[in-house]
Amino acid sequence: MNKVILARYGEIHLKGDNRYIFENVLEKNIKKSINGMAKVSKIGGRYLIYDYASDMESTIINKLQKVFGLISVSPAVEFETSLENIQSFCANIRLQGTFKVKSTRADKRFSIHSNELSAMMGQVILENNENLTVDLHNPEHLVEIDIRENGKTYILSTRFECAGGLPVSTSGKGMLMLSGGIDSPVAGYLMAKRGLSINATYFHSFPYTSEQAKQKVIDLADILTQYTGKISLFVVPFTQIQEAINANCNREFMITIMRRIMVRITEKLATLNGCECIITGENLAQVASQTVQGITCSNSVAEKLPIFRPLIAYDKIEITRIAERIGTFETSSLPYEDCCTVFVPPRPVIKPKVSEAIREEAKIVNMQELIDWAVTNTQKIELG
Ligand code: ATP
Ligand code: MG
Repeated sequence: MNKVILARYGEIHLKGDNRYIFENVLEKNIKKSINGMAKVSKIGGRYLIYDYASDMESTIINKLQKVFGLISVSPAVEFETSLENIQSFCANIRLQGTFKVKSTRADKRFSIHSNELSAMMGQVILENNENLTVDLHNPEHLVEIDIRENGKTYILSTRFECAGGLPVSTSGKGMLMLSGGIDSPVAGYLMAKRGLSINATYFHSFPYTSEQAKQKVIDLADILTQYTGKISLFVVPFTQIQEAINANCNREFMITIMRRIMVRITEKLATLNGCECIITGENLAQVASQTVQGITCSNSVAEKLPIFRPLIAYDKIEITRIAERIGTFETSSLPYEDCCTVFVPPRPVIKPKVSEAIREEAKIVNMQELIDWAVTNTQKIELG
């Protein structure tokens, strides 16, 4: 008898002829996440994780819960399929309260039908447990007997929920604009959940923003790698550009122009690094710059790539809840200034027009030169 873990996928079931592509990527991602701690193979529409040190079981389960594409995992026992083996295992199950047995028989060589087997094993378990009764509708314990085509039977009684979504990299690669705030790490998480690999761009305005602010972003990207796998983080030196905006443009447009230049640089870095979309943590009406007009102004400078804003309709409280669940909230809440907060004008324009933004921007005569310099001097940090 072996201890194993069964991992099940969700939405991949809806895929047609190309399902195997998703299954193969998911298998690769599972292997990467458990990093040699166990072996992995595919059986039917699920994965078997085996050959691991028993004290590593909960660590492995914890890692699997973060692999996008999986919906649940269960610790299980595995043995050769036979009625005797199933019976003797069930005779040793110890439970209290209410229970139900559910059997699945993919292996039709095993002659007992699943309902009949469930009833038989339910009886065996009842006989060996004093304080136990059957509840077919709302049992406290569900004992699952899974008879697979590989000649093995799996018995399990717990399902741990996983992150869901689709395997990372099956949807391509996106460039996340990652600040040190609460929102953008959550935005990256949600898009990775839909199968995007993630790269990230951070605009750093040293010395206006400190080394700690940069470290905070590195730490956030590092936390995200638990879900996304490797992330290349691009740190853009943004000081000169912010100073140029500050020196030349109407202060009310500071944020509008800063965002437009950020998007231009992000798009450039994205295309240079094989990303097919940009992701931001923007959210409608959360702050003054995130009005429809403000977003129109930053959106309109992206020439080739779509900008995804997965948080556009979320309430702050919902975003915070996700940040807490995925483990980014605490780091995001550290106090270090972001470049936007340092230069934020007392009264930013709330409904900027694109024509006004273009007019203000034109006052920075060497803008293209400044952008090219920033792109050339961007630092690349590999994480995960
Ligand atoms: P966050 O919590 O992600 O910082 P926010 O609510 O503070 O978002 P803004 O500061 O208006 O909102 O920023 C909107 C989006 O612009 C961010 O979610 C992020 O995607 C991007 N952004 C802002 N500042 C930076 C930065 N310094 N580097 C990279 N991206 C940034
Ligand atoms: Mg912010």
